[in-house]
Amino acid sequence: MTDGPSAAGAASQRPSPSPAPAASTRPVVEARGVGKVFGDGGAHVTALEDIALTIGAGEFVSLIGPSGCGKSTLLRIIGDLTSPTSGELLVNGKAARQARLDRDYGMVFQAPVLMEWRTVAKNIELPLEIMGFDKTERGRRSADLLRLVELEGFGERHPWQLSGGMQQRVAIARALAFDPKLLLMDEPFGALDEMTRERMNLELMKIWMRTGTTIVFVTHSIPEAVFLSSRVVVMSARPGRVARIIDIDLPTPRTVDTRETARYFQLVTEVREALRRNEQDEDGVLDEADEARIRAEGLA
Ligand code: ADP
Ligand code: MG
Repeated sequence: MTDGPSAAGAASQRPSPSPAPAASTRPVVEARGVGKVFGDGGAHVTALEDIALTIGAGEFVSLIGPSGCGKSTLLRIIGDLTSPTSGELLVNGKAARQARLDRDYGMVFQAPVLMEWRTVAKNIELPLEIMGFDKTERGRRSADLLRLVELEGFGERHPWQLSGGMQQRVAIARALAFDPKLLLMDEPFGALDEMTRERMNLELMKIWMRTGTTIVFVTHSIPEAVFLSSRVVVMSARPGRVARIIDIDLPTPRTVDTRETARYFQLVTEVREALRRNEQDEDGVLDEADEARIRAEGLA
């Protein structure tokens, strides 16, 4: 924790949460038999079935799989934006609801959702304002966070004066305002062009290295998942299950050169094949329609 907002500062201001016994030694996320069925009676969708996943402190875990396989639903369950209909999910050893109340995590979505009439600094400070942090502390933190996402000097601009990639960095800074132990990101770079996306991947890698925050990251992009992650969770469609978990043993910090290494290509192929095998398993054969869908969804 070098550049990030200081945990000491957070402790002095926020109402002290009551940590579960030995919370620090527990995994950050523990999902056991988690299922989610939307709707009731006649029309219902089984979005997730029997998800078992344990995520340790400081990990970067990506969820990848075809559209509609339940990636966002799983992320939303971790973030307590929706509840599982079966199984158990713990964040920092406590119910997701409690973790949310304790501000244990920040969230970043595909659209940065910034307030246009507020300056960049004021956008980052918004959650701190709501929590009653004083002006000095807010200013100190937003300055730290702007430095962290390499937007020093942009605090007084407005979001519309920034590029898409810069706006998303503001959203990341805001999500980090409470120095969360867990950052949940749902296709945060999905709307950006390929070049910007690659740059953002490098930025996020740096932020992750500096803060040590545990990250759960939903993506459609195999290269992005491999480049960023310590583990990639490959999900299957209908209903969403964990099909395979692939360890990404590329050395860190990862740089532009990482994408040129033989091991990187091997891992990209491994994830792609896991996704394809998964498609085949649906009905036993990988037909043209499956191939077209895989291509359309950018999975290959
Ligand atoms: P992904 O993020 O992998 O594309 P989602 O988690 O958004 O998938 O959706 C998983 C499945 O659950 C899909 O079939 C989707 O239509 C369904 N679903 C998601 N949210 C809702 C909802 N609020 N009500 C009903 N069905 C939903
Ligand atoms: Mg989604």
